Amino acid sequence: MTTHYLSKSKIMAGRQCEKRLWLAVYRSDLIEYGSDVEQRFAVGEDVNDVARAQYPDGVLVTYDHGAMAAVEETRRLLNEQPDTPIFEATFKAHDVLVRVDILKPCREGFELIEVKSSASVKDYHYEDSAVQTWVLECAGIPVKAIYLCHINKHFMYPGNGDYRGLFHYENITEEVQELSHAVPQWVHRYREMLSGNEPEIEIGPQCTDPYPCPFIKYCRGEETEYPLRHLPRISHQLIDALTAEGIEDIRDIPEGRLTNDKQEWVRRVTIAGESELRPEAAEVGEYGYPRYYLDFETIQFAVPIWEGTSPYKQLPFQWSCHIELASGELRHEEYLDTSGNSPMRACAESLIEIIGEEGPIFTYGHFEKGVLNALAARYPHLADDLHKLTERLVDLLPIMRRTYYHPDMLGSWSLKDVLPTIAPHLDYGSLGDVQDGNAAGTAYLQIINPETDPFERQRLVSELLAYCEHDTFAMVELVKYLSNGVPTTPTT
Ligand code: SF4
Repeated sequence: MTTHYLSKSKIMAGRQCEKRLWLAVYRSDLIEYGSDVEQRFAVGEDVNDVARAQYPDGVLVTYDHGAMAAVEETRRLLNEQPDTPIFEATFKAHDVLVRVDILKPCREGFELIEVKSSASVKDYHYEDSAVQTWVLECAGIPVKAIYLCHINKHFMYPGNGDYRGLFHYENITEEVQELSHAVPQWVHRYREMLSGNEPEIEIGPQCTDPYPCPFIKYCRGEETEYPLRHLPRISHQLIDALTAEGIEDIRDIPEGRLTNDKQEWVRRVTIAGESELRPEAAEVGEYGYPRYYLDFETIQFAVPIWEGTSPYKQLPFQWSCHIELASGELRHEEYLDTSGNSPMRACAESLIEIIGEEGPIFTYGHFEKGVLNALAARYPHLADDLHKLTERLVDLLPIMRRTYYHPDMLGSWSLKDVLPTIAPHLDYGSLGDVQDGNAAGTAYLQIINPETDPFERQRLVSELLAYCEHDTFAMVELVKYLSNGVPTTPTT
């Protein structure tokens, strides 16, 4: 059996799915990451930086000269500076390489500190730390305690770079030491598997747990036009059962086979090949005027940057609002804070200022309600006004889910999937780089970064404004369609 070099991340890929590990080794060209992966890496780096800052005398082992140089440098530091915490301490044993976030000397050994940007300990964190513990022990490093250092979501940033209390240290020594006994079997098993052909593993719950697998597109292969997975909330068991019956396309499911009403509706409309709008949708047209169409853009930080904010709270920096009058006049208002300072209060105040005393406020989903409630809790002097706004909210998403389906929506009622079916000229593809919430967050971070080129900043500001405006204009079109059932066309 060939000895394959493994790393902690490879072993963890194998823990998720052996095929994922095999593909990572032999077919890394097939990897396709989601749009949020860049942001996740950036968050991880921020969190690591702050965690390291808690150990001012710590020394970082870089990877600039490759793995073996990092192993050598770690060994040198352990010999020459035995009392110094080491960041990214690198070890290799049995051809398995691991890098420890923080290795802290303690009485008669070391503490292994694994830094995570999550707000709690997850099951896979134990396995992750077990791999490291096993390698360290094999390399002759006595591990006396193991901590999972994760974000304390109750932390409130007092400002001035004071992040004491941002992390919660969970002692996971016992669980990890027990689990570390299983690591040699994992390593043996994966080496054996890697010496063979690509494992035959079907798509299943493992493809998104604990992470979305970057090989999903490859594993799905050539799909039919309306694959079963587009049936709303379909279980893996039902997909497996239907596939075993030779059914791969929604249109091939026989009548009476599905017991879920929503799934049956999607099946029927897909077979019919044209959209269905239920008559009760027209009730939306009974709402009075003025009508408001509201959308927020928000940002969340693992490491808060604004005083008085906590990790992973949705903090609005932008809103867009279309205002439709009984006369048919349509006005657009918007707010985008590009100062880099805490934008929430100005967001709330500017919104209160433009929204009148009466009239429905349409949103798509309940996200806006959560944002308004959080703003009310943050700014008690604005709470009355903000609560009055939440009382007028009309969520279009559940109405759409109940009353409208088009085969091209492929089982999704997201605005981006619904819109092209009723207003093709408003396709999100016509926007620039900012076409979804992740891209909006990334653009905002670039805008408030003082190092961003002024022309680039201006371009991003324009794109962000266009994106948010697009969302609220889409809702105007949606309400029009629900009210009269006529697909919309360009006004120009
Ligand atoms: S998509 Fe699913 S089956 Fe394919 S490699 Fe990833 S986890 Fe395994």
